[in-house]
Amino acid sequence: MPIISAPLVLIDGALRGPAAVIIDGDRIVDVIDGLPAAAADHLQLTEGMLTPGLIDLQINGAFGIDFITASPGDWATVAATLPGTGVTAFQPTFTTAPLDTLVAGIAQAAFARDAKSGGARLLGVHLEGPFLSPAQAGVHPIEHMLLPNAAHLDAIVGIGPQDIVTMVTIAPELADALVAVRRLVAAGICVSIGHTDATAAQVRAATDAGATMVTHVFNAMRGLGHREPGAAGQSLADERLVVGLIADLMHVSGEIVSVVMRAAAGRVALVTDAIAAAGMPPGRYELGESTVDVFSDGLPHNAAGAIAGSTLTLNDAVRNVVSVGISPAAAFEAASRVPADLIGRPDLGRLHAGAMADLVWWSDALQPLRTWVGGCVVAPATA
Ligand code: ZN
Repeated sequence: MPIISAPLVLIDGALRGPAAVIIDGDRIVDVIDGLPAAAADHLQLTEGMLTPGLIDLQINGAFGIDFITASPGDWATVAATLPGTGVTAFQPTFTTAPLDTLVAGIAQAAFARDAKSGGARLLGVHLEGPFLSPAQAGVHPIEHMLLPNAAHLDAIVGIGPQDIVTMVTIAPELADALVAVRRLVAAGICVSIGHTDATAAQVRAATDAGATMVTHVFNAMRGLGHREPGAAGQSLADERLVVGLIADLMHVSGEIVSVVMRAAAGRVALVTDAIAAAGMPPGRYELGESTVDVFSDGLPHNAAGAIAGSTLTLNDAVRNVVSVGISPAAAFEAASRVPADLIGRPDLGRLHAGAMADLVWWSDALQPLRTWVGGCVVAPATA
């Protein structure tokens, strides 16, 4: 059986070593401390660290491809290219769009998932819209926002193969929102609270109804007030919630990244919110129906100057979090175990007997050197 050892391995939330991961087929069968006795199929990494593959719960596109209009070939390209950034599983995310556009996009994502073209795993679709607050729209088109009533939920969640929609971001102050939260959670769909002007009390009510995440904390929600903490403050205070964070050091400052990682230790999920421009040079790109310009600072803007997603990659998010004083182990956990647990995938996001053999070997400078999905090397492509 293949054995991979490294000076440091992320085991149970701590980087320790040397240690080794033993693989059989596409799964990990054991993780052991120390270096194993010589074996024919032993890959001994002599520097850096070995972690689970990273999981991005919010990514709108990358490498010039906008997921909502992606062709089968585009989906295969993204799945093949993401592992170069350490990502082994992703939840493609659609922003607010006309219903028929979303329905078509969901169908294409289901095709792509079932095609299993190799590379990063397509977990399911994150619908970031249309059930959002016009008061916190960001770049989402207000004219396509909908109330989360039964008819609208039927139109979006009731179509396509079962379980292709895995997450819905919703503004809990909308009419019928709490009924919608209960229905989505009962259907096995994660509900995240976002693009919302909700008070802390409204966020608490949605959490009581089953919501388990807050979408890109501090972005597209009211600011944290000391008497009305809103969704940002409530998400830091309520241990039932996973806190989604765009750690590009532009959507929120480095100080806020530090505050969030400490206040919600062990329950922050790093997301990229990346758009087609991620992994590409500055220029003009599509995000749904919007045209977005990316200048040399790497931050996408629409014509009105609003921030429109990011060009962040998840490996850079991990390094940014470490750069503000958070431990590498905590940063890696926020990009692997936390998102895996949130979406009910204990077979992902950890190095553990029984888990999928999705691994990343990192340099000491936290650059991904090699990535495996299901025990097979998927990056670099020539390895
Ligand atoms: Zn958003």
